Amino acid sequence: MNRSNSPATINFINGTYCHPVEDGWIENINPADGTSLGRIADSTEKDIEQAVIAASNAQTQWGESTLEQRSRILSKIGDLIEENIESLAIAECEDSGKPISRARAIEIPRAASNFHFFANAITQFSSESHESVGQNAINFTLRQPLGVVGCISPWNLPLYLFTWKIAPALAAGNCVIAKPSELTPRTASMLGELCNQAGLPAGVLNIVQGTGARTGQAILEHEKIKAISFTGGTATGEHVARVVAPKFKKLSLELGGKNPNIVFADCNYERALETTIQSSFANQGQICLCGSRIFVESSIYEKFKTDLVERTGQLTIGHPAEKETTIGAMVSGDHYRKVLSYFDEIDSANASLLCGGKPATVAGYEQGFYIEPTIIEVQHNRCRLNQEEIFGPVVTLMPFNNEEELIEMANDVRYGLSATIWTRDLDRTMRLSKKIECGVVWINTWLMRDLRTPFGGMKDSGVGREGGQEALRFFTEPKNICIAFEN
Ligand code: NAD
Repeated sequence: MNRSNSPATINFINGTYCHPVEDGWIENINPADGTSLGRIADSTEKDIEQAVIAASNAQTQWGESTLEQRSRILSKIGDLIEENIESLAIAECEDSGKPISRARAIEIPRAASNFHFFANAITQFSSESHESVGQNAINFTLRQPLGVVGCISPWNLPLYLFTWKIAPALAAGNCVIAKPSELTPRTASMLGELCNQAGLPAGVLNIVQGTGARTGQAILEHEKIKAISFTGGTATGEHVARVVAPKFKKLSLELGGKNPNIVFADCNYERALETTIQSSFANQGQICLCGSRIFVESSIYEKFKTDLVERTGQLTIGHPAEKETTIGAMVSGDHYRKVLSYFDEIDSANASLLCGGKPATVAGYEQGFYIEPTIIEVQHNRCRLNQEEIFGPVVTLMPFNNEEELIEMANDVRYGLSATIWTRDLDRTMRLSKKIECGVVWINTWLMRDLRTPFGGMKDSGVGREGGQEALRFFTEPKNICIAFEN
């Protein structure tokens, strides 16, 4: 399988690759060097209509297939992703600018795990029963597939997040209309071919390509699509909620973050420092879970600051396909310019630039969108640098003196996705974990994932949870059946 040089990325509907009905196209740019990777279909409501017809036709049979049948096919898709790691990693790296080492070792394998995990999870999925004691009745909850559902995903972890939605949706017996980001379309497209090889019946998964405003919007609006699972920015999520709420579709929103990374003086210093480099700059800081606000206890603040700047200087900015590269390209010219614009805030916030703060040039790839990993020392938590999601290789640093002050700052932000706490004090970890307003707390680690756990955010970071049973509950309709019996 080698579609990474394919000139056009088209839709996958009813098990077949097809051109967009209205012949609309957008350009896919390689952010590492500014060259074109070919055209992408910019699908309209006519393509969505075709996808919905295919999905509706496939729904009854897929919804009534046995758990073993579904599980076997999903597991096979996971196997095929593993067999094609190299070509998928190349396409992912070219589309997004992420280091190929990351795509190969972490993200594509995780896409395979998503299928393997939900292939198993569906065989263990159960529902509740309630005996109405004294009334001679028993209630049980029937969990049925919703029908045709829509999954919309972002560009930062393309196949990883695309499959994180699709796998549970399919496992639960739904047929799916899925749209990847228009910035990173190709691994999603390649998945169609793997689904055919795995024996997924035609129409069960339909992959449509195009912009959010056109293709995504058509998915939100289609009356026959029963649920929307969306991951992306908070502003887009707000729009999605406005469109979908009056249509009474089920809705899951996984949105932005501005996560605190908290370092206490009693931590395992070396682990905290090393992991902070990861949580700050992995994937060029374009992970919703990055710890972009670093708070360090004042007694170790100066040392931590010096060491963090020094370690950051050891990162290798380079072409994403080079194996030693640790910092690749930003995903697009627009996003690159947005991130750079935050450097204008440094003076007005009375903040100090500790390192970075400018574009990076990679010899031979001058048209690529590279930014130096950047650390900014801020004076207070209310500045824009600490309040807005920059979503780039940019972190802020500030000291704290006690837990009360720290909790106030950690929570004083519109987002509530995740937090990381570095300390050896068990009591403190529990006190803080209860008080910090977020969906995921990592103690002495970062981005360690167990796919059974509930995943998602509080406040403006989202509504609902993905992962494990939560995802299977989202993608099913609970129906209470009450059976009366005679003694
Ligand atoms: P985005 O909101 O711009 O786009 C996300 C997806 O929504 C894309 O597929 C896009 O085409 C589509 N879209 C855009 N407008 C739409 C519309 N009107 N109708 C329907 N679909 C539309 O986000 P992005 O820039 O691709 O991703 C970055 C954002 O995603 C960051 O804010 C990041 O924090 C967030 N994110 C959150 C999580 C999480 O799990 N909470 C995970 C990854 C990324």
